[in-house]
Amino acid sequence: MRNAVIIGSGCAGLTAAIYTARANLSPLLIRGHEAGGQLSLTTLVENYPGFPKGVQGPELIDMMQKQAAEFGTEFLEGNVTRVDLSQRPFVVGMGSENIETRTLIIASGASAKMLGLESERKLLGHGVSTCATCDGFFFRGKPIVVVGGGDTAAEESLFLTRFASEVAVIHRRDQLRASKIMQDRMRRNEKIKFIWNSTVTDVLDVDQGYVTGIKLKNVQTGEERLRPTEGVFIGIGHSPNTDLFKGQIEMDELGYLKTHQGSRTSVAGVFAAGDVQDRVYRQAITAAGSGCMAAIDAERFLESEGTGDRV
Ligand code: NDP
Repeated sequence: MRNAVIIGSGCAGLTAAIYTARANLSPLLIRGHEAGGQLSLTTLVENYPGFPKGVQGPELIDMMQKQAAEFGTEFLEGNVTRVDLSQRPFVVGMGSENIETRTLIIASGASAKMLGLESERKLLGHGVSTCATCDGFFFRGKPIVVVGGGDTAAEESLFLTRFASEVAVIHRRDQLRASKIMQDRMRRNEKIKFIWNSTVTDVLDVDQGYVTGIKLKNVQTGEERLRPTEGVFIGIGHSPNTDLFKGQIEMDELGYLKTHQGSRTSVAGVFAAGDVQDRVYRQAITAAGSGCMAAIDAERFLESEGTGDRV
C-alpha cells in the first residue's frame, strides 16, 4: 500500500514527487507515455526563474528527476491503463499489475491536438511537427506551413520565421483567435503569409516518407489545391490527458480536471496538478507550483485521516 502515487513525469509530477518525498511519503511516480512532459519536447526555456541565461527543457527535467530521486522517489516506467477511485485505497492499474494507494496526484498533462489525417500521423517526425521549438531548426531556409489561428499557432509561426524562408499560416476562418498583440506581431512580420478559410485535407508524401506538400481545401468555395512545403506545424491547441478518469472525477466541458481549494478534485484524496487542470496559464513554473500544492494537500489529507505512515 502506497501513501502517494503520482501519475505523470513533467514538471508538475516531478515537483509533487520532490515535495512528497521530502515529506517522507515515499512516492511512486509513474512516468507515462510522454515521459518528461512538454518541457522535454522544447529547447531553450528562458522564463523559468533561477536561470538567467535560460536552460534546456530536457536538462531542467533531468535535474528535477535527479532531485526527486535524491529524496527517495521511486520511478516506474509505463502507462496507467485503468484507475478505480470509487473506494479507498484507490487502485491504479498498469497492465496486469494493480497498485493500491491512499492518495493519488494526477499530473498527466495535456497533449498537442492533431488534425486526424492518416498521412499526418505517418509523417509525424518526418516533416510534420507539433513543436516549433523542437523542430524549427531543421527547416532553415525552407518554406513551411503552420495550421491554426490561436496563440499557439501565432507563437509557433513567429518563432519559425527565425529559420524558415516563408511561413504560411493556414486558418479555417478569416479571423485569427490569437491575442491582439500576437496578431499584430504576425502581420508585421514579412515572412508570414496567411491562407484564410482553408483546411489541410492531406499531407504528402507518405510513399516517399517525408513531407513534400499539402492538399488545401477552401471551405467556402470547396476548391482544392496542392501547395508544396517541406514542413507542417500543427498548432491547433492541446487536449488534457484525462480519458482514464472519465466518469470518476469531475471535469470541465473540455475534459480538464476541475480543482477546488488548491489542488483538490471531486474525489477526496485525489489531487491534480499542471496542465491536466490548467487551461489558462500552462507554464512550466505554474505547473511546478501546482505540483507543490498537490503534494502539500496530499500530505495534509493523510495527516487529517491519521493514515500518513511515515517510512
Ligand atoms: P485555441 O483553442 O485558442 O486555438 C486553436 C486554434 O486552432 C483556433 O484558431 C482553431 O480554429 C484552430 N483549430 C482547432 N481545431 C482545428 C482543426 N481540427 N483544424 C483546423 N484548425 C483547428 O488553442 P491555443 O493552443 O492556440 O491556445 C490555448 C490557450 O493558451 C489560449 O488561452 C491561449 O491564449 C493560450 N496560449 C497563450 C500563449 C501566449 O500567450 N504566448 C501561447 C499559447 C497559448 P477556430 O479559431 O476556428 O476555432
